[in-house]
Amino acid sequence: MQKAHRLQALPPYLFVQIRHKIRDARERGIDVISLGVGDPDQPTPPHVIDELCRTARDPANHVYPTDEEKGMGRFREAIAAWYDRRFGVQLNPATETLALIGSKEGNHHLALAFLNPGDLAILPDPAYPAYYASVLFADGQPYRIPLYPERGWLPDFADVPSDIARRAKLLMLNYPNNPTTAVAPPSFFDEAVAFARNHDIIVCNDFPYSEIAFDGYRPASLLAARGAKEVAVEFNSLSKPYNMTGWRIGMAVGNADVIAGMAQVKENTDSGIFNAIQYAGIAALEGPQDNISYMTGIYQKRRDLVVNTWRALGISVEPPKATFYLWAPTPNGMSSAQWAERLLEVAGVVVTPGLGYGSRGEGYFRVSLTIADARLQEAMQRILEHRDELTKPAG
Ligand SMILES: *Cc1c(COP(=O)(O)O)cnc(C)c1O
Repeated sequence: MQKAHRLQALPPYLFVQIRHKIRDARERGIDVISLGVGDPDQPTPPHVIDELCRTARDPANHVYPTDEEKGMGRFREAIAAWYDRRFGVQLNPATETLALIGSKEGNHHLALAFLNPGDLAILPDPAYPAYYASVLFADGQPYRIPLYPERGWLPDFADVPSDIARRAKLLMLNYPNNPTTAVAPPSFFDEAVAFARNHDIIVCNDFPYSEIAFDGYRPASLLAARGAKEVAVEFNSLSKPYNMTGWRIGMAVGNADVIAGMAQVKENTDSGIFNAIQYAGIAALEGPQDNISYMTGIYQKRRDLVVNTWRALGISVEPPKATFYLWAPTPNGMSSAQWAERLLEVAGVVVTPGLGYGSRGEGYFRVSLTIADARLQEAMQRILEHRDELTKPAG
C-alpha cells in the first residue's frame, strides 16, 4: 500500500523510536528507567474524577457534545474566566475561545484552516515535533528559524529574510518551551506580535506549561502583548497542570477569525469532546488549585536532584524556571545520539537526544522529570556510579 507523500515526508516520530529502543533493551534483560517522555506520573485530582463519574452517569450526556463545535458554553465561560484570573486577559467566550481535544489537535486544525498548499509556516528549531507534522499534513512548507542558546533559546526575527516573512502565513512559538525549558519575557511577546502584524502572519503560542513554573516565576500569556488579538492565538491544555494527558482536553483562545476558522475544520472533522469530560474540565479550572503547587513542589525537588547529578558529571546546566524538563549539553562534545545510546547501554537510563527536535538541538539532550522519585533517584545513582565510563571521550 502506497502511503501519501505527507506521511512519507514525516521524520520518524521521536517517541516511537525511543519506545523501540526501550523495548530492545528490556528484551536483553536491562532494567530500563525512561526519562524520555513528558507524561505526569501523578493522578488526576479526585474532584475532577468525581465530576467525570457523576456526569458520565447522566443519560443527557450520552449524546453528541452539546452546544456546538466550539465546545460547551459553560466550558468556554470557564476558560474565559480562568484566562482573566490567571493572565489578566479578557476573552469573549462565544467568539474567542474554542475547546480542543488537546493542544496537539489544535496545531493540526490551525494549519488545515490557514495554510494553502506550499504556504510557509515559520517554526523554531529546535521545537516540539508536532508543529512540523501539522504543517506537512496541511501541505504547507515549514521554514525553520534557529533558537540560539546565547539568546536564551529565543528566535531573532531579524533572521527571517523579508521574502520569507512576506510569504509566511503562520509563526509557531512555545514558551515556556519544550524541549529547551526557555521562558519568554513579555517584551519578547510584544516583538513577536509586532513582527506578525507587520507581515500579516498568524502567531500562535503553544502554552501547555503555563502552570508548571518554579521559584515564584509566573509565565505570561502571548495574548497580554499589545495588539495581540489582531494576529495571535494561544493553545493551552489541561494535560499538564491537572495531570490529564489521557483525557484529551484543551483550548484555543485569541483572534476571533482564527478561532472561527479552526472551528470550521473541527465541525467537519470531529464532533467535539464528550460532555462529561468538558464538565470535568470545568471542575479542573474552577475547583481547588492546590494540586498545582503540590506538583511543582515535586518537580522542583526532582529538578534540583538532576541538576546536581549533571553538574557532578561536568555538564553545565542552570535550573529551569518552568516546564518539567531539563535541557543540557552532552558531555565531551558527544553527539546527542551517541550520548543517549551510551546512557542506555551503561546505566539503563533513557534520555531524549536533542537532534529529534531539529538540527539546532544537536549536542543537547532532554530529560523529563515525570517519573516516580524512587526511580529517578535510582537513575541518578546509576549515573553517578558509572560517571567515568559515561564521560570518557567518544571513540
Ligand atoms: C505536552 C505538550 C503538548 C500536548 O498537549 P495536549 O493538550 O495533551 O495535546 C503540546 N505541546 C507541547 C509543547 C507539549 O509539551
